[in-house]
Amino acid sequence: MSERRVRVRFAPSPTGPLHMGGVRTALFNYLFAKKNGGDFLLRIEDTDQTRYVPGAEQYIIESLEWCGMQFDEGPGRGGECGPYRQSDRKPMYRQYAIELVATGNAYYAFDTPEELEAMRDRLKAENASVQQYNATTRGQMQNSFSLPADVVASKLAAGEPYVIRFAMPLAETVEMTDIVRGRVVVNTRELDDKVLFKSDGMPTYHLANVVDDHLMSISHVIRGEEWLPSMPLHVLLYRAFGWEATMPEFAHLALLLKPDGKGKLSKRDGDQLGFPVFPLQWTAPSGEVSKGYREEGYFKEAFINMISLLGWNPGTEQEIFSLEELGQAFDLTRVSKSGARFDLEKAKWFNQQYLRMQTDAQLAELFASDLLARGIERPMEVLLEIVKLTKERVTFVKDFWDQASFFFEAPVSYDEKVIKKRWKPGTSAMLNEVAGVLASLDAFDAHSAEEPVKALIEAKGYNMGQVMNCLRLALVGESKGPHLFDITAIIGKTETLARIARATANIAEA
Ligand code: GLU
Repeated sequence: MSERRVRVRFAPSPTGPLHMGGVRTALFNYLFAKKNGGDFLLRIEDTDQTRYVPGAEQYIIESLEWCGMQFDEGPGRGGECGPYRQSDRKPMYRQYAIELVATGNAYYAFDTPEELEAMRDRLKAENASVQQYNATTRGQMQNSFSLPADVVASKLAAGEPYVIRFAMPLAETVEMTDIVRGRVVVNTRELDDKVLFKSDGMPTYHLANVVDDHLMSISHVIRGEEWLPSMPLHVLLYRAFGWEATMPEFAHLALLLKPDGKGKLSKRDGDQLGFPVFPLQWTAPSGEVSKGYREEGYFKEAFINMISLLGWNPGTEQEIFSLEELGQAFDLTRVSKSGARFDLEKAKWFNQQYLRMQTDAQLAELFASDLLARGIERPMEVLLEIVKLTKERVTFVKDFWDQASFFFEAPVSYDEKVIKKRWKPGTSAMLNEVAGVLASLDAFDAHSAEEPVKALIEAKGYNMGQVMNCLRLALVGESKGPHLFDITAIIGKTETLARIARATANIAEA
């Protein structure tokens, strides 16, 4: 068993955009494959046509691409076990369902929706402890176990609608091992005769999933905890098919939890608390748009790093991992059994770390494209300067604009609080004197402007803090920004003087 080639699959159903939890499932599969030199497959599980959402498959593929999780086999990529979209595999499944019928592990059931409802009502009325289609109840229903063989044959020949159900053993203890959870024991008394196949030729999730995992030689099934209740059925299916020897190992990943730790992280939490739960922006068929990490300005590396530590830890203090490093460090046995709480501040922290890992030149390039989108173009040397001055204060590339817009645009308003506190009588006159000094300078770099301005303030006995703060207000519009004379040096003499003139003309002295 240990010699077996590692082959894992991410098997989403295209019912909508990929949730962060889905990205994490994909990532853990991908990392496990990398760690073990194995294969990572993408399989689209679209057997439930009623839940199919146009665009979802493309969205899933684009998300994996953005994250850098290249699949080795899958739709559009090919591979020896294709096709990788279950709707394209449709003709394959019937024979497996029929095989199970032939071996007595499954049976045809002809019950109408009304008959099924009547069964549930009857069991409810009887206060039955288990109210489902199972070994106890199937004898009273319309199926190939309860009906004579010729009746079944004629129903089938007449084309009556049917389903094929798994014949769940009456009361058998199924013992299983889950890599994350350890030993899992379930008694089949609690399980029902699940539908495996419908007469429209479509398999249900359970049949298609198990058959495909077998045909695709999947060695490990790594998936969300919501599938843990299906594990006994899947294990029994492997047994019924006689595929136990190559049955995959299972690992069920605990849920991603809301920031307060109470319950599953949902799109509503994201909407309410203002963070994306999807990797990429998604426009639903209804036209409703949901935020994406990509569009919110997250570096994909930061997003992946953040996701990787939701429910996994390397056993060391290290927090920053590239995708490649994750592929070396990842270990399924270090995946947590309990839910992982999503922390928005931590997500931002990761982005800030990755932003700081960029060179100034890279940041200047990124900032340049942001500016270009605003119709602003400046020489790269200038952007480089601005990036150096502001990068400590930004978390996202888009924050550069908040921190640096005054380098490109004169203030259109002035912070009232600063005016009240600082713009005392005589301020305009003092600033005009400062302007006079600045106007007389030939060189206008940070160093050459600072000295003479300070000399003037000292010589006149003005309050240094007041003048400097008012000068900042005139140039920036509020009391933020880097060193004042770095600002004057970058915006230049003409603009500096124009801003001082505008402020002194427009701000009334308090
Ligand atoms: N199609 C299932 C899903 O969307 C896959 C579950 C599995 O990985 O077995 O979650």
